[in-house]
Amino acid sequence: MPSSSTDTFLIVGSGLSGILMAWELEKRGVDYEVWNSGAKSGPESNSATKVAAGMFNPVSFKRLVEVWNAQEHLNAMRETYQSLEHFLNLQGELFHIAPIMRVFPNSQYRDLWLKRLNDSHPVAGFLSEISDECPKDVIAPHGFGVVPEAGWVNLPLLIKSFRSNLELRGKFFEKHWDFSTQMPLKFSHVIDCRGVGATQDFASLGLKIASDHGEILTIQSPINTNGMCVNRVKWLLPRGNSTFKLGATYKWNVTKSEPTEAGCSELLLALQPIIAPNVFNNFEITDHVSGLRPASSDRRPYAGPVNNLKNTYILNGLGTRGVFVGPTTASHLAHFIFDQTPLPADICPARFKKKQ
Ligand SMILES: Cc1cc2nc3c(=O)[nH]c(=O)nc-3n(C[C@H](O)[C@H](O)[C@H](O)COP(=O)(O)OP(=O)(O)OC[C@H]3O[C@@H](n4cnc5c(N)ncnc54)[C@H](O)[C@@H]3O)c2cc1C
Repeated sequence: MPSSSTDTFLIVGSGLSGILMAWELEKRGVDYEVWNSGAKSGPESNSATKVAAGMFNPVSFKRLVEVWNAQEHLNAMRETYQSLEHFLNLQGELFHIAPIMRVFPNSQYRDLWLKRLNDSHPVAGFLSEISDECPKDVIAPHGFGVVPEAGWVNLPLLIKSFRSNLELRGKFFEKHWDFSTQMPLKFSHVIDCRGVGATQDFASLGLKIASDHGEILTIQSPINTNGMCVNRVKWLLPRGNSTFKLGATYKWNVTKSEPTEAGCSELLLALQPIIAPNVFNNFEITDHVSGLRPASSDRRPYAGPVNNLKNTYILNGLGTRGVFVGPTTASHLAHFIFDQTPLPADICPARFKKKQ
């Protein structure tokens, strides 16, 4: 849909998708407002972004392959978060490199890692050689490999800072919006970034936005991982000052978000085998949070025009890898809106048309 620089856009949702979209408009000098619901309960109150650990990782450990379009995402995300850091005056606070130490669960996995390296598999460019020299508090009898180009983005800080910046410029409002909302005339286009808050509206158009529940603990512990994120089944991410994020649980299609005893036990049980007993027994849980990840059925984001709604677009379904895939996806949507560049078929919501 052609668009001129005199249009005013409404972005609904100030989670990661809304902020990434706002950034695309900001860079183009396009006028916009951001609305976010002030609801205190129900799907509208969910913010996956506020609770996420913000990790990025170009490797999918399950089958030991590279994530879909990994290099494209890696380049775009680095550029985006570093520019945002600069724009928000948060140098050194937003974007963090923390290599991931993948503890091998057994000797077969170790052999697979070696095979990927020896075969020059596309994932090999993201993997280091195998090592047996473990940080002293980590237990890895089968050894480990490292993914150096991994890390995390401080998402709560990003959305808080961006929102403050918008508020100062009169561009942020605590308001509800849905498909039935009468649009103020000043807005020419809407970009719907409501996460799981959009589930019901899109169900009426035959597009499924699943809500996948996740829980994370914050723990205080003297564990030394040499600054690396330790991964085996679950992950332990160092955040400085002896603080770690331990996550995450994953449950499909849960509509209510709340931290559970079962989630807490699942996380601690997964950590126990890889941490030396003397340090494992010496930690304090300082926080326990949960949220709903907005996801699609094929685990690709949704970015594109909304069927039957004029000048309305969706950016949603960022799933478990919002930090990694979000910047590229937002950029594709902006190119589609402003430059009429066709959207890649694998993110276009119309890919589900035939199945409806
Ligand atoms: C426990 C957990 C751990 C995670 N860890 C990671 C991780 O390490 N790395 C990673 O990349 N991703 C992670 N994720 C996923 C990541 O959080 C999501 O991909 C991303 O935050 C989704 O952003 P979003 O803006 O689409 O949705 P949200 O962050 O949920 O934002 C949607 C916004 O829309 C607003 N809204 C909803 N309905 C309305 C309405 N009707 N009107 C106005 N406003 C409305 C909501 O209030 C909310 O602020 C994790 C998620 C969870 C739950």
